[in-house]
Amino acid sequence: MLYALQCYLTDYCNLNCPGCYRRAMAPNGAPDKLLPPSDIIHYVNAIRGNDKFEQAVVFSGGEIFTAPVPYLHEVIQATLDMDVAVQLKTNGSWVADARRAPAIWDMLKSLRVPRGLVATPEQVQECLRTMGGDAVRAARKDGAWYQALCDRLPTRPMLDLAVSVDNKIHPAQSVDWMRAIAERLAGDATLRDNISLKISAFMDNRNWFNRTVIRQGWPHVRDETWVNGQIMAFTYDGMPVYAFFSDFVDVPTIPVPVTDHVVFAGHDGEYLTPLYMHPNRTISFENVDTMHAVGRVSYVDAAGQCRPIKRVMKDMIKTLRAQVRGGR
Ligand code: SF4
Repeated sequence: MLYALQCYLTDYCNLNCPGCYRRAMAPNGAPDKLLPPSDIIHYVNAIRGNDKFEQAVVFSGGEIFTAPVPYLHEVIQATLDMDVAVQLKTNGSWVADARRAPAIWDMLKSLRVPRGLVATPEQVQECLRTMGGDAVRAARKDGAWYQALCDRLPTRPMLDLAVSVDNKIHPAQSVDWMRAIAERLAGDATLRDNISLKISAFMDNRNWFNRTVIRQGWPHVRDETWVNGQIMAFTYDGMPVYAFFSDFVDVPTIPVPVTDHVVFAGHDGEYLTPLYMHPNRTISFENVDTMHAVGRVSYVDAAGQCRPIKRVMKDMIKTLRAQVRGGR
């Protein structure tokens, strides 16, 4: 079975958006409860050997930047050091806040961020052909294989900052927060090298997005173009930015049946099972219709140690089946 991993670092958030599904998912959330770094390292390490694992982890909340900055540095750096990409999901408010932002930016700047290949399989093939047999064999022999490709093909930093921008769930000021973040990133060469800026937006919010982000953002915002039906690319002062549009789900109005919609197809069409780690040391699947945690179990044993991932998965599936049978 394939895995994707999302870590809820904290259930606490500084905002109180009316449509927030996390409030229903995390009734025991407390500002001081954080997902332990050693737990994250344990499970990332356990699944990164799976060659179908996407080699990327999402850190989400609540609002992750309400967590202490040294804690964030520890978990982000430890994950990057395992050569796993990290996406930081944020509402953007504290990253744009004049009082709180400096410590956050200093932390982001101090990270050692590896770069990952963004080449297509065709580009890799062409690169190998032009490198020639001897160079390829030498790179294989001394383990410099991946680096040899990175030196010749397009790469990007393995750290994304994904800011929510909309006026449906989040406050309309989210566009101002995103602008402040984009300006800071675009104006600092180290940060720009370390971080790719992403935007999470809603499909039925596109007119508002076009008006506020694109048209009002000019001349900083330029070159907007749709990559496909759900992704828009543009530049902010020359820095590439990607906006990902998803369908808006009014979660609080949806009843909460447990369904078997907890897996989705990965890029290659195989089923990918996203796992969600919670600060109270539980792990779950997530119902994709309601975004509620299902099949949720504790991942630690009586001594507080992380249990093997295969055992935890078995318990999750058992719990999920019982929930489906019980219609909860
Ligand atoms: S910013 Fe996100 S997590 Fe925080 S209240 Fe709003 S929707 Fe919920």
